[in-house]
Amino acid sequence: MSENCVFCKIISGELPSTKVYEDEDVLAFRDINPQADVHFLIIPKSHIESLAYVDTSHAGLLGKIMTLASVLAEKEGSINGFRTIVNTGEVGRQDVFHLHFHVLGGDKALPAMIYKRS
Ligand code: 5GP
Ligand code: ZN
Repeated sequence: MSENCVFCKIISGELPSTKVYEDEDVLAFRDINPQADVHFLIIPKSHIESLAYVDTSHAGLLGKIMTLASVLAEKEGSINGFRTIVNTGEVGRQDVFHLHFHVLGGDKALPAMIYKRS
């Protein structure tokens, strides 16, 4: 838990979220500002700043997150594919510095690349 981290506050329940999935290692919840008909985030429960801060000890956790992406995308109604995005650091335009995997989809094809709707 990192003080002043909005995603740590979601994990602890201090801030509300619409949960998609939870276990002892990870939490998935819908993005508050969806950029597609399906848009949720998968995060580790441990506070890791970004993909730039992972090492081989995180391999199992990262594998779990990637495995969950397709299962949860389907559960959320994205049955013919989805997109995963991990924005990292300043160049990657990361806004929340708690590692998160965006999963975007729906029943229509997404734009070739994602641009923010608003
Ligand atoms: P980033 O730009 O860091 O890759 O993405 C951060 C994402 O977190 C954004 O898509 C933003 O809408 C989402 N987000 C930020 N604050 C909250 C929040 O309090 N609740 C939820 N559900 N999503 C949030
Ligand atoms: Zn955090």
